[in-house]
Amino acid sequence: PPDVEQLGRATWTFLHTTAAYYPERPTPNQRANMLNLLHSLPILYPCSHCASHLGETMKTNPPDVSGRIALSRWLCERHNEVNESLGKKIFDCTKTDERWKDGPPD
Ligand code: FAD
Repeated sequence: PPDVEQLGRATWTFLHTTAAYYPERPTPNQRANMLNLLHSLPILYPCSHCASHLGETMKTNPPDVSGRIALSRWLCERHNEVNESLGKKIFDCTKTDERWKDGPPD
């Protein structure tokens, strides 16, 4: 079975980075494809308890693919739900661009 921690770090890196560079004004095609990507995770993510937990939280909080700021925040909140359930620190969602796009200020 995959290493759930390494898989998680790699997947969060991909998802947060993709959200950080998602357009502020996505085309209908970009929105539809982002929705497909996110909706595929509860079906395909190769950690079954992670996948089913994500599927439950996505029912309560459907993805917001309207633009990169909203999407980055939505993803940060879902990641924080996982952090909380694992007893990890809650991430400050105002720091998402700094972590995944811009780097620390000089
Ligand atoms: P990670 O949680 O992997 O975070 C990587 C980096 O992201 C951090 O170092 C930090 O810089 C940054 N970061 C942290 N929180 C946020 C945030 N809220 N927003 C933006 N950036 C942030 N593991 C389980 O054991 N059970 C589960 O149910 C589970 N579900 C998961 C569901 C998904 C969709 C994914 C992608 C992973 C899941 N994992 C689950 C794995 C888990 O979330 C972690 O990836 C893993 O435990 C490794 O944790 P880490 O401490 O190295 O940092």
